Amino acid sequence: MLPAGAQVYVGRPKLIVIVVIDQFRADQLNRHQTEFKGRGFNLFMKEGAWFTDCYYDYANTKTGPGHATIGTGAYSDGHGIDSNEWWDAGRSFDQQVSSVEDEHYKLVDLPASSIPANQPGAPPSAAKYVVGASPLNLRASTLGDELRLATQGKARVFGVSLKDRASILPTGQSANAAYWIDSASGQFTTSTYYMDHLPEWATAFNKSGRIEQAEKEALVEGTTQFYELVGHLPAANTYELDFAKALITAEKLGQNGVTDELVVSLSPHDLQGHQFGPDSEQETEMDLALDRDLDSFFTWLDQNIGLQNVWLALSADHGVAPVPGEAANLGVHGVALDMLKVYDAVNAELNKRHSAGQKVKYLLPNPDLPYIVLDKRVFEKAGIDEQKAENEVAEILPGAVASLNPNPEPVITDKPLDAEPSDKRLPPFPRVQYVYTRLQLANGQLPPSQWGTLIAHSYVSHGNWYVMAILDAFQMQGTGAFAGTTHFSPWSYDRHVPLAFYGAPFKPGEYHQLVAPVDLAVTFASLAGVNRPSAAVGRVLTEAIKPAPARGN
Ligand SMILES: [Zn+2]
Repeated sequence: MLPAGAQVYVGRPKLIVIVVIDQFRADQLNRHQTEFKGRGFNLFMKEGAWFTDCYYDYANTKTGPGHATIGTGAYSDGHGIDSNEWWDAGRSFDQQVSSVEDEHYKLVDLPASSIPANQPGAPPSAAKYVVGASPLNLRASTLGDELRLATQGKARVFGVSLKDRASILPTGQSANAAYWIDSASGQFTTSTYYMDHLPEWATAFNKSGRIEQAEKEALVEGTTQFYELVGHLPAANTYELDFAKALITAEKLGQNGVTDELVVSLSPHDLQGHQFGPDSEQETEMDLALDRDLDSFFTWLDQNIGLQNVWLALSADHGVAPVPGEAANLGVHGVALDMLKVYDAVNAELNKRHSAGQKVKYLLPNPDLPYIVLDKRVFEKAGIDEQKAENEVAEILPGAVASLNPNPEPVITDKPLDAEPSDKRLPPFPRVQYVYTRLQLANGQLPPSQWGTLIAHSYVSHGNWYVMAILDAFQMQGTGAFAGTTHFSPWSYDRHVPLAFYGAPFKPGEYHQLVAPVDLAVTFASLAGVNRPSAAVGRVLTEAIKPAPARGN
C-alpha cells in the first residue's frame, strides 16, 4: 500500500505546459504581486514553487538563444543558437540568416497577399526573403524531443508563438508542429518541415473571425501589419492563448496515455517593451492584462484536463534594461550609442593601417551587439590572419566607442540648484568594458571565474571571425537615450527571468537560491522519468520537489 500522501503524487502528468513570456524581467512579478488576482501569476507565486533568483548564465541574452535554452537545458555553446540572426559563412556573405530560416522548406497556407516573391503567385509588393523555417541550427535535443523518444513518438509536442524562432526552438527537432503568425495578416502558419498544409482546426481558427476581433481590440481593423500593430498589445496575448486552447482541444493533448507537451511563447511583452521599457505604464498594464489572461487559460485547463494532471512552468527568454535615458536621469550610466558610427570609426582606422586612402569595409554590416563580425575575405586579401585581425579590432574598438562621447564637459544649464543629478556631474559616456576575440572564446582563454564561465557559455562559431564586445552596464546600441531599450548583454537585468512551477510534484514556496533557466528542462525530465536533453547542463531543483512516496514491501 502506498502512503496516503502518495495518492496525489502523479508520476507522469498528462500534459506539460511551459509558458514563456518574451522579455519579462523577474522583478516585474514582485512589483505587481499585490495587484495580481485569481489564479494567473498567483498559481505559480502562491500555489507553486516560485524561484525569485533565476539568471541566465550566458552573455548573449536574446530571443533565439533564450528559447533554445528553455527547451534544451543548455547554453549557446551546447545548443548552437547565439543570436536571432547571424552571418553564416557557409550560407551567405550577402545577407544574415535567421536562427530558424531554412530554404529547404516553405511556409504553409499563407494568404495570397503574403506569398513571398520567391514563390509562384506572389503579389508585386511581396517581401523577397521569406523562406520556410526549421530547427536546422538547433544542435541539442529538447525536453519535447526526449518525451517523444521515450514514447516512440506517442507523446505529442507543440509550440505556439507570434515568432517563428520562439515556437520552433523550445520545442525541438521532433515536435509535431510549431505554429507562429504570418506578420501581415496575423494568420497562424507553420513550415513544410512539419506538414504540407495546416490542419483543419487551424484553418478554421484563421477563418473564425478571431483575427478581426484582435484587430478590433487593437483599434486597427483591416490592417496588413498585424505583427506591428496588434502584436505589441495585450490583445495579442489573448489571441495566442485562444489559439493554444484550440490546439489543445483539436489535438486532444493530455488524452494520449503519455505525457504531451505544449510550449506557449507570449510575444507582446517584447514588442511593446522595446518601445517603452520595463518601467512604463504600458508595461504595467500588460503585466496585469496577462495576469487575467493566464487566470482564464489555467481555469480552462483545469476544466478541460484537470490541473492535477498538468505540470506548468513559467519563464522568460531574457530580461531587459531600463530605457537608458531614464537610468541616466537617476544618475546611472545609461547610454544609447550609434553603432553605425562606431563601425565607421573602426573601418576608418583599419583603412589607415592597411589600405590608406581607400574606403574598404572590414566589418560585415548590421551591427548586432554583443557580436562584431569581421569580413574575413577582406582581411585575408590583405594578408592578415584571424588572430591579428581580431586582435586589431579588439584594440581599436574601445577608442572608437569612447570617441562617440557627445558631452565631454558638464553641460551648464539653468537647472535649479537642487536639481538631480547635480549640474557638476559629468553626463554618462559610452565605454567598452571587455572585448573577447573569437579565438579567445574558442580556446577557452577566459578568466577562471564565474564571469569566464558565463562568457564561455555564449560561444558558437558560424564560420566567421568576430569579437564579442561588452559595453558598460546600462549601455546599448540605440538611436537616442529615450528611443526605447533592448537586451543583449551579460548584465543582471538582461539575465534575470522568472522561473516557477506548478503541479503535483512541487513543494509550494518562495525559493531564493540562485537558479537558471537550464534547470527547467532537466527538472521536468527527471520528474517525468526521461533522459535529460542531449546537451543539458541544468540542475534538478530537488529543493522544490516533494519527497517521493515510500517504496513499500
Ligand atoms: Zn525575446
